[in-house]
Amino acid sequence: MKFQGPRGADDVLPNAIPVWRHIEDTWRRLVTQYGYLEVRPPMFESYDLFVRSSGETSDIVSKEMYDFTDKGGRHMALRPELTASVVRAYLEHSLGAAGGPVRLWYCGPIFRYGRPGKGRYRQFHQVGLEVLGSPSPAADAEVMEVAYRFYTALGLRRAKLLVNNIGRFDARERFGEAVLAHVAAWLADQTEEDRARAHKNPMRLLDSKDADLQALLKDGPRIADCLGDESRAHGEAVLERLAEAGVPFEVDPGIVRGLDYYTDTVFEVAAEGLGTSLSLCGGGRYDTLVSELGGQPTPAVGVAPGLERAILAMELEGVEVPNPALDAYLVAATEGARATIGELAGEVRAAGFACLRDLDGKSLKAQFKQADRSGARLALIVGDDELAAGTVTVRDLATGEQGSVPRSEAVARLKGL
Ligand code: AMP
Repeated sequence: MKFQGPRGADDVLPNAIPVWRHIEDTWRRLVTQYGYLEVRPPMFESYDLFVRSSGETSDIVSKEMYDFTDKGGRHMALRPELTASVVRAYLEHSLGAAGGPVRLWYCGPIFRYGRPGKGRYRQFHQVGLEVLGSPSPAADAEVMEVAYRFYTALGLRRAKLLVNNIGRFDARERFGEAVLAHVAAWLADQTEEDRARAHKNPMRLLDSKDADLQALLKDGPRIADCLGDESRAHGEAVLERLAEAGVPFEVDPGIVRGLDYYTDTVFEVAAEGLGTSLSLCGGGRYDTLVSELGGQPTPAVGVAPGLERAILAMELEGVEVPNPALDAYLVAATEGARATIGELAGEVRAAGFACLRDLDGKSLKAQFKQADRSGARLALIVGDDELAAGTVTVRDLATGEQGSVPRSEAVARLKGL
């Protein structure tokens, strides 16, 4: 019987690992520079946590949850996002007890049962960060600055930060009613289920992929016209802080994000060429989520960049990440040299270098073939002549040049590279 990996969940194979490592390391370095601390919540949580946070009408909860009943009869779900888990952990462990703001970051797999396609997976990976306990526009701006600098640090030149303000619940209610009135004729032709969903959360209509609806909404009501004074002032201050930080952005009224918990600031980073529906990252302010999940009212803001999309954008812009080369392949030219090759391998590794050697008694020719294939920079060769002379033959595998060095200097040759 032959097995295949699950649909929408890729194997990350060794040839792709360097770019994954590079992206994860870039993120880690960056958020550490801004003073964020890492958290690692579990991959699964109570189903209700996500219903409570993302919202019942969100696509994530209504269509895409990997939920299951465990052997103890509990309704659980693989995490479809990490913000809910981070907030749950923040509350459970009183991470805010020493005062705010608390800055946290994370990295890991996310699970959504959507329809797989380019840039859309059922298991994908996010890095992300959350600032808990700051109502300041400077916090929104810091989060967006980190997101933007992440993409520039990856070498992307065509990543665009798109910002919007969707206000608080009263503004959203006013806006929702105006939207429903504006699209009433279109809505009358939709299924009853779609109508019910639209009435429950009209904001979702702005996220719809229906071309007719999008055309209709183009000259529909604008959230900006519905905002309260505080939201308006907050939004303006966020843009000022961003400008002060030298972060380029565009205000885009079309950005609403698919999760219920956002308040005021929402943003995405878009990559030119990826298409508007494939954002690089999404984020925003969520001032009511912490209290929704049982905590004291705590203003918060965060962002989650997807890693698969970062890789796609890097490919589109031709950003390459070099594969780190193996330092040496150790060749035993004769049977009698195998023990010495074993010792030499130990010395090479003890000095912090990476090497391979044959385990299976392969012929000299086969060992050289493997050495070439391994991508190693040098071959260190020991046969009977070298044993007798106490030397090692060092061959540059790229140029074919070779020379003899005293055994005690072989490792030093690697250092010189
Ligand atoms: P969201 O949590 O929906 O705001 O998405 C945040 C980011 O996660 C997006 O900008 C993407 O980079 C990534 N993302 C979301 N859904 C998927 C998916 N199905 N496949 C791959 N990446 C995704």
